[in-house]
Amino acid sequence: MIQLFIPLNFLGFVYREIRRALTDLENMLGLLQRKASIVDAPDARELQLQQASIEFRDVSFGYQAERVILQQFNLKIAPGQKVAVVGSSGAGKSTLARLLYRFYEINSGQILVDGQDIRSLTLDSLRRAIAIVPQDTVLFNSSIRDNIAYGNPAASQQDIDQAIDLAHLRHFIQSLPQGDATLVGERGLKVSGGEKQRIAIARVLLKRSPILIFDEATSALDSQSESAILTAMREVATGHTSLVIAHRLSTVVDADLIVVLQQGKVVEQGSHQQLLTLNGYYTELWALQQREQQADVKE
Ligand code: ATP
Repeated sequence: MIQLFIPLNFLGFVYREIRRALTDLENMLGLLQRKASIVDAPDARELQLQQASIEFRDVSFGYQAERVILQQFNLKIAPGQKVAVVGSSGAGKSTLARLLYRFYEINSGQILVDGQDIRSLTLDSLRRAIAIVPQDTVLFNSSIRDNIAYGNPAASQQDIDQAIDLAHLRHFIQSLPQGDATLVGERGLKVSGGEKQRIAIARVLLKRSPILIFDEATSALDSQSESAILTAMREVATGHTSLVIAHRLSTVVDADLIVVLQQGKVVEQGSHQQLLTLNGYYTELWALQQREQQADVKE
């Protein structure tokens, strides 16, 4: 009986491993398929990075021809500047990030990085220059360390340790049963939204790209997670040109420029203080979010 059990047990192990590998592959293919519709132009050039400025010039875009999302959208981000885009749900904020990364092709206008139209560049050189902290970070079924190193598989141990510290993950990792060797992902430790975002920040640090996109999670984080992420973000953004897609205005009060989007159009822009003096849509959003936060505190 025992003789039969051992091979069967082994077969079960092999089956589970194959299933796991296939699921990972499916996840990867899902991502690849999305990117496959956009390819390099025959004469595509490498991006010549200078200071990492970004410009959306008269950009119009719709996911479907019959529904326009962005109309003649204009935005300039100077090198090293932190620009936040705010606005109601569905206004087109995340779409801007997807277009800059060239997940979709614009209908008209231009998107320029250091003065170069992104359609004339190789996708690889464009995407190497941009690092994204997405709303929902995908974690692989592997150790937490592997998940962080995914930002740059060639990173040294020292680089990884530095990223862990800068992303404020040290304390979290020390609390885990096997430290950074702890398995995470679907079949491992469940990781909170805030911890996932800090893992994404560590990945971004390792990628060392001059342009940073931070797509803030829609779901509310507790105030401790939010403040840990904010501190990490501020440190990471230093020296980067950054675009922050923000849902909570409290996270972007320090931005150099805040752009207020309504149905794909810029309705107001300025610093937090300038926008408040306008007493317009931003002031309305700010007051609404302040009331919501106070209600949360009382609960
Ligand atoms: P939120 O604050 O809810 O994240 P957002 O301002 O980031 O919203 P986008 O995700 O940019 O909004 O979406 C803008 C509009 O485009 C929405 O109406 C959305 O339904 C639509 N949209 C987004 N992605 C797609 C897609 N892949 N196909 C079709 N329509 C889409």
